[in-house]
Amino acid sequence: TLVASNSTERDVFKVENSKVIVAVRVRPFSNREKDENSLPVISMSGSETAVRHPATNQVYSFSYDFSFWSFDNCHPNFASQAMIYKTLAVPLLERAFEGYNACLFAYGQTGSGKSYTMMGFDEDQGIIPRLCEDLFTQIAQMDKQQILYHLEMSFFEVYNEKIHDLLVFKAESGQKKQPLRVREHPVLGPYVEGLTVNVVSSYSDIQSWLELGNKQRATAATVMNDKSSRSHSVFTLVMTQTKVEFVDEEQCDRRLTSHINLIDLAGSECCSMAQTTGERLKEGVSINKSLLTLGKVISALSKQSRSGKKTFIPYRESVLTWLLKESLGGNSQTAMIATVSPAASSTEETLSTLRYAKQACSIINIAKVNEDVNAKLIRELKAEIEKLKAAQKSALNTDPEKYRRYLQEITSLRVKLHQQERDMAEMQRAWKEKFEQAEKRKMEDIKELQKAGIAFKIDNHLPNLVNLNEDPQLSEVLLYMIKEGETTVGRYTPNSKHDIQLSGVLIADDHCVIKNTVGKVSIIPLREAKTYVNGKCILDPTVLHHGDRVILGGDHYFRFNHPVEVQKVKRPSCGTMFLHDRPKDFEFAKNELLIAQRMQLESEIEEARLKAKEEMMQSVQIAKEMVQQELTSQKEAYESKIKSLEAEVREESRKKQIQELNNQKAATKIQELEKAKQNLELELHFNKKRLEMETLATKQALEDHTIRHAKILEALEAEKQKIAEEIHTLQKNRGSGNKTMTIPLTWNSLKLSVMIKEANTISNELGKNTVFYR
Ligand code: ADP
Ligand code: MG
Repeated sequence: TLVASNSTERDVFKVENSKVIVAVRVRPFSNREKDENSLPVISMSGSETAVRHPATNQVYSFSYDFSFWSFDNCHPNFASQAMIYKTLAVPLLERAFEGYNACLFAYGQTGSGKSYTMMGFDEDQGIIPRLCEDLFTQIAQMDKQQILYHLEMSFFEVYNEKIHDLLVFKAESGQKKQPLRVREHPVLGPYVEGLTVNVVSSYSDIQSWLELGNKQRATAATVMNDKSSRSHSVFTLVMTQTKVEFVDEEQCDRRLTSHINLIDLAGSECCSMAQTTGERLKEGVSINKSLLTLGKVISALSKQSRSGKKTFIPYRESVLTWLLKESLGGNSQTAMIATVSPAASSTEETLSTLRYAKQACSIINIAKVNEDVNAKLIRELKAEIEKLKAAQKSALNTDPEKYRRYLQEITSLRVKLHQQERDMAEMQRAWKEKFEQAEKRKMEDIKELQKAGIAFKIDNHLPNLVNLNEDPQLSEVLLYMIKEGETTVGRYTPNSKHDIQLSGVLIADDHCVIKNTVGKVSIIPLREAKTYVNGKCILDPTVLHHGDRVILGGDHYFRFNHPVEVQKVKRPSCGTMFLHDRPKDFEFAKNELLIAQRMQLESEIEEARLKAKEEMMQSVQIAKEMVQQELTSQKEAYESKIKSLEAEVREESRKKQIQELNNQKAATKIQELEKAKQNLELELHFNKKRLEMETLATKQALEDHTIRHAKILEALEAEKQKIAEEIHTLQKNRGSGNKTMTIPLTWNSLKLSVMIKEANTISNELGKNTVFYR
């Protein structure tokens, strides 16, 4: 619906409500899906797309602006690349020529055909090259006198919420390339700060920049390892049309600018968090951010369109939506193509894509022609001057004061006009300069690229290595020529002298050398650097043949091409060699490597198994020996113990014998002693008897003695009496003679002392006898 279309000179803005055009495209089965004997689950009828769920048999039906059947090319409604371009992109281009912004984005799971639709492959050119070519064809047909066309292009990637310019090859003075940032201009809206904007003047200019951009993507994808499916690639053309108009023979330019954004989104599966882990999770989250926010923006916009109420649209939550702000719900003519796989294995992802696309159907954009303020101003100034001139003319004779005022006004407007025109001219000059600079840079970049091994023009006879990538769009994009003599391969560093410079942690500073001696090409691995030929890790120089797969450092995949060899092979005598089976693409090379690695692994496992077995046998043997040894030593220990015990027992018994002997001896001794005792007792008895007898005898003797003693004592007493009588007598006779009296006394005394002596002897003897009997 045309809301406001007013072609008066003053109001040239056209504002139009335009619905987002949504299309679905289903691709043919891939080789893998064919191998899996997959059944198609999608059917289309008119603009409807239906999915029959293989598990439940339930049919889900969706209606879009277009449903493109690209499943089988024999189908009457088959949608070819050309047909899709015509249906979806041509109207956008037309709108762009009218001065509107235009945007087309491809949404779908990885491998569903986004890149095929947007960029295409070889002859199956997609929308981007077709649109660019078409654009220049149309420009060429225009009247150059009337309209000047100026085109600028940018090509960048949004990966992990960071913007990577695909049109700069080398960083300034060896610096690491910094990701770019989104800025928002108060009038012009969001833009990428510092992004390369190249002026292009022909389709081939665009082609070579695109080629450069894709080479960059391929190089980056190899280093980052399959990041392509997780990045959004944005191709932008800015077309400025300067319509040369004349107002009273004075040139008055009218400038229209339109942005054409063509976007190949990241795989929609990156939206689902469940499948991502670790580092992937981090990437996944960021990808989610852009894709999820896109979903949120689409759903908010569609809600807003249906309710008619203004809602908050979270454009600024992700880099992509911020940049697409104008294309979604803003000032743009927008189309979306959702690509899906026909296979049952992708049903869930397909349904999610279709639902996503369905939401976009209800978005209404407000598109308007972008007229340049500067040109508009000039035009307005000129018109004003003309008007004043006319008024002045009429006032010339009637009102001199009025006339003078008009003249003044006209003069001041003229000054303003000249300033505007100078600005315009300056801008034009700046553009021209920019264009020349871009040309120069391109030439330099190409030279630089060739040094890095990326060739643009192919020498038909030189053997070469072509890159292989999981993403078919990035496969066979990089070409490395193998010149006569030596081609060295090593890690990319700012000062590297290598002919082929590769990035990545697994690439060694000096990785390998490729020798080309009169067409015979061989690859020589260096030291520890891993080099694989047809899946096998090589250690020695290996001759390369056409079609051989070369993998350097584990993630740089190449196919070797040898044009001369191919020609030789093509001769009838050689027949058909390997050229007719499956293409030697990335999948083939990867499978081959995996198989070789698996075999290697298996043989290593087998070897390890055998070794382990051997080791086990050995250890069993050792263990056995040890046990044997232990047993022996134990036995020995026991035996010696037994021996010592036996000795002990022997000693014990010996001791016992001795003991017994001693006992016997003791017994005999006891007997002997008993006997001796008896004897002694007997003797004692006898002695006692004898003593008794002796005592008796002694008693007798003593009695005898006593008697004798008493007799002696009696005698002595008698003697004493006698003596005493004599003494008495003598005393009485004292006068008669003294001589006679003296002599009798002496005799008597002698006789008495003998008798005392005798008595003493007897008492002595008695005393002795008393001691013996005690
Ligand atoms: P995406 O960019 O969505 O990951 P691609 O565009 O790289 O997927 O497509 C994956 C594969 O399927 C490619 O080999 C491509 O050639 C093939 N393919 C995709 N769409 C079509 C189609 N419409 N016709 C034929 N082949 C297609
Ligand atoms: Mg792709």
